[in-house]
Amino acid sequence: MIYAARQEVTSLYIHVPFCGGRCHYCDFYTLASPAPESLEIWQEGILHELSRLAGEADDNGVLLAPLQTLYFGGGTPSFVPPRMIASIIRNARGLFGLDGDSDITLEANPESAGKEEQKHLLDQWREAGVNRISFGVQSMSDRLLAAAGRRHTAAEAAFAVRAAKRAGFKHIACDLITGLPGQSMADLDDTLDQIEKLPLDHLSAYALSVEEGTPFDLLRRKNPQAFPDDDLEREMTHRLIERLGRMGFIHYEISNFAREGAESRHNLVYWKADSYLAAGPSAASYLGGIRRSQPASLADWYQGVTDPEEGPFSAGLIEERLDEKAARIETMVLGLRLMEGVSRRRFFERHGTGFEDVFGSRLNRLQEEGLVHLDEGGVRLTARGLDFADYAARSLL
Ligand code: SF4
Repeated sequence: MIYAARQEVTSLYIHVPFCGGRCHYCDFYTLASPAPESLEIWQEGILHELSRLAGEADDNGVLLAPLQTLYFGGGTPSFVPPRMIASIIRNARGLFGLDGDSDITLEANPESAGKEEQKHLLDQWREAGVNRISFGVQSMSDRLLAAAGRRHTAAEAAFAVRAAKRAGFKHIACDLITGLPGQSMADLDDTLDQIEKLPLDHLSAYALSVEEGTPFDLLRRKNPQAFPDDDLEREMTHRLIERLGRMGFIHYEISNFAREGAESRHNLVYWKADSYLAAGPSAASYLGGIRRSQPASLADWYQGVTDPEEGPFSAGLIEERLDEKAARIETMVLGLRLMEGVSRRRFFERHGTGFEDVFGSRLNRLQEEGLVHLDEGGVRLTARGLDFADYAARSLL
């Protein structure tokens, strides 16, 4: 067993593979406008998978403890009826335990909660136990939203966020995208002007990633000038960091900003390369240095998790076993995404060696290039390093 294996597991991710349509940049495994039976199959499969995970985790060297984070991601989790979310939370509580202070997050699209007649859904998610909601806002420009194939308007996004506040969610987050075709700096400023007026305590801002075979991929092949160039994208990132800072958000991860105490505890588990369980089609868990991905097919996944011959870690899974060397790289590369960087103490406790023994010459070179800062506490990216984070990560592989 590698050093990284010795971890308590207190996080569970549940993948919801359904959406109301398909956005023009997305290649995730997701079923657009699924039949109601598909939702029932998904719920039943998740309940099977959770009870197997809980029952057999011990046999696989997984140290389970009450969950501190439970995260419904997708896809569009707000697409499934709240009663299904409620029954999964109830089951997870019974099987794993839920810490009294746990973060229970639901990703939601404004199309699910942006209208007066949808407000009751927010109350039902709250009653189910969800205390953190993360809206896929992406932009507050109706022109850009329509061009991206999103199915909501800026007014619906604002309505959903305000309604979530009234419904009593402890934390309300939203995602934004930069680099959309036709997006200008004025568009970004206008989006931030509107965002500033909303009761949000967490923001994620991702640069558009154009996936092969999507409508945006075709558009880029035909007309690359439709997309902001690298310089404009970088300027947008700088503007985001500067304006969100002035609004009181702490920049705590390359793409994430939070008011004090509102960081995403679930996502911190990923960036710290800690272990977590995952359930659902195409979901990937990371346990004791082993990453296991479920098949990206509702039918294949369901068959695997309900087959009496199969255990929780063998049903059609793709396994990637990290050796200690690979685990050290994960700790360093993921940890550098955090503004606090990688702590010497934590690295030593996790891997039984100092990070300079493993990455010394490469870190020194990055320091000479002005991309990382090394001190007695650890190593972190500099402001310049943020612009070259991909290069810094590649040079540590
Ligand atoms: S809502 Fe999210 S998961 Fe669904 S198609 Fe759009 S980007 Fe993809």
